Amino acid sequence: MTDTISTDVAIIGAGPVGLFAVFELGLLDMKCHLIDILDKPGGQCAELYPEKPIYDIPAWPVISGQELTDKLMEQIEPFGPTFHYGHMVERLERLPDGGFRVGTDQGLVIEAKVVVIAAGGGSFQPKRPPIGGIEAYEGTSVFYSVRQMEAFRDANLVIVGGGDSALDWTLSLQPIARRVTLIHRRDAFRAAPDSVNKMRALVEAGEMDLVLGQVTDLKGESGQLREITVTDLEKAERVIACDRMLPFFGLTMKLGPVADWGINLHENLIPVDTEKFETSEPGIFAIGDINWYPGKLKLILSGFHEGALMAQAAYRIVYPDKRLVFQYTTSSTSLQKKLGVA
Ligand code: FAD
Repeated sequence: MTDTISTDVAIIGAGPVGLFAVFELGLLDMKCHLIDILDKPGGQCAELYPEKPIYDIPAWPVISGQELTDKLMEQIEPFGPTFHYGHMVERLERLPDGGFRVGTDQGLVIEAKVVVIAAGGGSFQPKRPPIGGIEAYEGTSVFYSVRQMEAFRDANLVIVGGGDSALDWTLSLQPIARRVTLIHRRDAFRAAPDSVNKMRALVEAGEMDLVLGQVTDLKGESGQLREITVTDLEKAERVIACDRMLPFFGLTMKLGPVADWGINLHENLIPVDTEKFETSEPGIFAIGDINWYPGKLKLILSGFHEGALMAQAAYRIVYPDKRLVFQYTTSSTSLQKKLGVA
C-alpha cells in the first residue's frame, strides 16, 4: 500500500480518548483518520478490561470497558472517521508546508494538517514466548498476528496458547492448514467455552492435535522453521513438524516509536500545556494517558476534557481564516445538523 491519504487530523491511538477526540473535532468540521496497532477500537478498555465495571464516567453510574467503547463508537458515527487497525505508527515528520506525514509499519502514509497523539500507555505489542532463538524465525515462520489467512494454507501450523486468540485462530485456520497442532501448558483454557468445545470436537474427530506441554526447541534454517520440540507434562520430549507458528502469550504495552519522533519527553510521557494540550512541536497535540502536565490524572474523563480543548486549538490550524464561535449542542442547530439530529 503506497497511496497517500490526505486528511485534517491523524489520530494515533483509538483508545477511549482518541475516540472522543473524533467527536470534538467533528463538531468543528475536522475529518479524522485513526491508526491503532490493535485490531479493534477501545485501547486499554477493550483490550485489558472489557468486562470490568468503570464507576467514574460522568452520567454512567456503571459501564464496562467494552460498553464504553461501543457507546463512544456510536457517538462518533455521524462524523465518519476512518480507522486503520493493525498498523503501528512508526514515523512522524513535518512537511515543508507545515502539515505532517504519518507512516506505519504496513506502508500506510497519511498526510494531515494536525496530529493528535492519543497513544495511551504506548502501543500494545505481543509478548515473545521464552523459547531460545525464536527471533531468527519471526516474520518468516513465527507470527504474532494473522494478517492474511492465506499465508497459513497447507502449512503444518503450531498455535501456542490457551486464550481466545489461540482458540479463535485454531478454529479459523484448521480448515485451510495441512495440520494444526494446538499447544497449551495445561488442560484448562481461558477462552470462550464454545470455542474450547469446538476445538475438542476437532481433536476427537482426528482433524487436529492438542498437545499439553511447552515448546522448548525450534529447528530450521534461514528463518524457515522445520520442526519444534515440545516437553510435555511428564517431561517427555516430542518432535512435531512445523513450518508456521503462532504464539499467543498476551500483549504488553511499550512506549514504542513515540520516543523517536523528536518530541520532548518527560519520563516517557509527552509534556503539554494545559490550554491546548500541544506538545513541544506546534501542530502536534498529545491527549490522554500519554501526556503529562502538573496535576495530571490518568483518568478517562481527563482525556475527554483534553480532547475538547485540543479541538479548539486544532481548528485554528485547520481553518486559520475562520472565526470560531462557541456553541452548545443543546441549542445549536448547526451542531445538531452535523450530528444528524436536526
Ligand atoms: P489507551 O486506552 O492506552 O489507548 C491507546 C491506544 O494507542 C492503544 O490502543 C494503543 O495500541 C495505541 N497506540 C499506541 N502507540 C501506537 C502506535 N505507535 N501506533 C499505533 N497505535 C498505537 N480509568 C478511569 O478513568 N476509570 C477507571 O475505573 C479505570 N479503570 C482501569 C482499570 C484497569 C485494569 C486499567 C488497566 C486502566 C483503568 N483506567 C481507568 C485507565 C484508563 O483505561 C486509561 O486512562 C485510558 O484507557 C486512557 O485512554 P487513552 O485513549 O489515552 O489510551
